[in-house]
Formats: sequence, C-alpha cells, structure tokens
Amino acid sequence: MNLDAPALEEDPKAYLALHQLLDEPVADQFLTEREREIRALTRDVVAHEVAPRAADLDLNHTFAHESVQALAHAGLCGLIFPERFGGTGDSNVAYAVAMEEITAACAATSLVFMTQMHAAYPIMTAGSEELQQRYIPGLLDGSAYGSLGITEPGAGSDVSGLTTIAVSTDDGWSLSGQKTFITTGDRADVIICFATVDRSLGRRGITAFVLDGGWEGIGRGAPFDKMGMHGSSTAELFFDQVAVPRTHLLGEEGGGWSVVMKSVVKSRISAAAQGVGLARAAYARTLAALTALHDGKLPDEATFALADLRGRILQGRLLLHAVARRVDTDPDVTPGQIGMMKQTCTDLGFSASIEAARILGPYGDLSTLGVERCLRDAKVTQIYDGTNEIQRLLIGRETTRAIKELA
Ligand SMILES: Cc1cc2nc3c(=O)[nH]c(=O)nc-3n(C[C@H](O)[C@H](O)[C@H](O)COP(=O)(O)OP(=O)(O)OC[C@H]3O[C@@H](n4cnc5c(N)ncnc54)[C@H](O)[C@@H]3O)c2cc1C
Repeated sequence: MNLDAPALEEDPKAYLALHQLLDEPVADQFLTEREREIRALTRDVVAHEVAPRAADLDLNHTFAHESVQALAHAGLCGLIFPERFGGTGDSNVAYAVAMEEITAACAATSLVFMTQMHAAYPIMTAGSEELQQRYIPGLLDGSAYGSLGITEPGAGSDVSGLTTIAVSTDDGWSLSGQKTFITTGDRADVIICFATVDRSLGRRGITAFVLDGGWEGIGRGAPFDKMGMHGSSTAELFFDQVAVPRTHLLGEEGGGWSVVMKSVVKSRISAAAQGVGLARAAYARTLAALTALHDGKLPDEATFALADLRGRILQGRLLLHAVARRVDTDPDVTPGQIGMMKQTCTDLGFSASIEAARILGPYGDLSTLGVERCLRDAKVTQIYDGTNEIQRLLIGRETTRAIKELA
C-alpha cells in the first residue's frame, strides 16, 4: 500500500464514488425527494471543498474558515431557516442528512457549521424582528461567526447554576461573568449569552441575550489545545460590565430556560448526526484502506467486522432520521426521546471508530488513513450538548415517570 499516495479525501471523484456506495436504500426510503437533493448537493460541496482540506486542518490546527464559507455560499447554513432570513425552509431531517455528510469528511468543519445554526436559532425563536434581520442573515451567509454561550466553569450539565449576572440598568443590563468551552468563542461576531438576573432564582432567573462581539467589556481567551476537532476553535469568554441594550433580550426576562431547552433539541440533532457521520467516516476509510492493502480481496474476518459496523451505522441513521422527523412534526417530542438519539448516535461514532482502528491493526494508528482522527474527533461528541450521562439521566427520568403511572 502506497502510504504517500493522495488520500481518498483529496480526490473528489473517488470520494463521491465510495460514499455513494455507503447509501442505504432502507434509510433512504424515508427521505423526501428534497432531502435526497440536499444530500447530493452537500456531498458534492463536501467532496470538492471540505474533504480535501480536512487532514490539513487537523494537522495544523487551522480554523475551518474556507470549508465553512464554501458550505455557506452553497446555501447550506440556512437549511432550517425561512427564506426571508436567507434560509431554505428545509426540514430537521434535511439538516441531519447534511450534517452527516459534512462530518463524514471533516468533523471539525461540521462543528463550526452547526454552531452557526445554534447561534442563529435562539434569535429566530425568541428575538425581535429587528434582531432577526440584523443578525441571522450574516450567520447564514457566512459573513459573521456565531457562538452559543451556556457553559461556565461551574455550570454546564447543571445550567441552573450559572453565575454570569445581568444587573438591570436604566437602558438595559450590565453583564458580568465568564463562559468557557465556547465553540468559535475566540472570533464570534454574534454571541448568544445566557445569564441570570438573580442568582437565588435558579432556572427562573436565567435570561438570554444576543451580544455584538465587538462590544466593550467582552474579552476572549486563546483557543484551547484539544484532543480532536482541531479545525474548530474552543475558547473562554469574559464579560466585564458589558452594557446590553434592552432591545437585545431574547424572550422574556427570566425566560431563558425555555430558550435553552429549545436550543438543545437542535444541538442534540447536530451532535447525533456527527456521531453517525463519524461512524461512516471510520467505516469508509477502513474499507478504502483494506481494499488497497489486500488488492481488493478482503479477509473474511474484516468483512465480518465491516458487516457488523454497517448494520450499526444503518441503525444509528434510522434513529437519527426518525427523531429529527418527529421534531419536524411533533412539538411535544420529549427530552428522553432526544436523549436516546444523542446518546446512541454519539456512542456509535466513538465505538465504530475504535472498532475501525482495531480492524486495521497497525494501520489504524496512522494519521494518513484518518481513522485515528475519527477516534479523536468522536470523543467530544459524547461530552458536549449534554454529556451522555445526562442523556441517560433524562431517559431514566421518563422511564421512572412511566413506571409511576403504571403503579
Ligand atoms: C470541544 C467543546 C466544545 C464545546 N462547545 C460549547 C459551546 O459552544 N457552548 C457551550 O455553552 N458549551 C460548550 N461546550 C461545553 C459542554 O457542553 C459542557 O462541557 C458539557 O455539557 C459538560 O458540562 P460541564 O462542563 O458542566 O461538565 P460536568 O457536569 O462537570 O461533567 C463532568 C462529569 O460529570 C458527569 N455528570 C455531571 N452531572 C451528572 C449527573 N447529574 N449524573 C451523572 N453524571 C453527571 C458528566 O457526565 C461528566 O462525565 C463545549 C465543550 C467542548 C469540550
């Protein structure tokens, strides 16, 4: 095997041919014509603009600017947004399908891509028309970067414990505190910030604001050095008496919890799609490497192990599409249902990457083949957007409630 040959990701024709092979009619039968079109468009942009850059971004820890711009210019950053904001009004299923495609080529790019949506979505659901017109189009066309700021050094899994404080002033609020682990935080032009108006109120004090990244009093840490997702940035944000005008409130004062809950539905679809995309990337890279290593005739042990992986990826994709469809059609989809999707699909991404590395033996350890990158990138999907332990907690609560109803 020529390990110096250009990787599969650098040859769009070979990339498209291999990934076409991995489509599963069993899952595709539930997609609409339009959702299949979105997949074809995304895959084409990804093959030409995202996949060829992926290994380099990882190696050099370069922010995925060009890759995200290519996706934005193709109109893909606004899939679930109405046309009046520059979006295409597509379904959550279409978004999940596109996210899987992007992740299969470059998970770090998908992390920046999804964060654009995570920043724009609270403005769409809880912002005034003026805020919507001012901030959403730039996030969708790629001219602005956005961040969603929930996590703090002492609050993430338990959002009700956040301490960033918004003190009421004559014109609005004065915001002080700190956020950490914020994707794109080092460069965000638009920051969704969750703060409390009264620390003693817990959830009932949480309030959401949209901040202009250039406002006085906003400080940024240097991007963290991370295990994976090297083409994305993750940083601290500091707020020192930032003057927030009254018009920059999202929803109501004390109404931030419902904004968080709506936002995590979307961000958990994103993470779940990353899980399926990473599992598929690990499978595709393993299949390509084994084919080259064994001159097109795979050993039985490898075909058995790949068969197992293929079935598990199909299961994950079906679950992802089913829950995303439910989000499209049923506003009462429960946190436990969302949690089952997030936990199962991100666990799949990690375990499939480990299995792919095992199947390849020593080749699994080589960065040129990209399977070790899947492993490093997949780990964090089990951690962010609510750790998988928290998802199990949410699922468990619904089980306990159901049992109580039986009794
Ligand atoms: C690369 C990266 C990007 C991120 N991007 C963003 C972003 O853009 N915006 C943002 O706001 N945040 C972001 N985060 C933060 C992330 O969402 C949180 O770190 C995550 O939700 C965990 O919360 P925590 O930090 O409070 O961890 P902790 O809650 O302190 O977790 C520590 C451990 O305790 C476990 N644990 C906690 N509570 C319970 C419980 N009740 N039962 C069982 N186990 C429990 C957790 O599962 C975990 O294993 C990012 C993190 C990373 C690493």
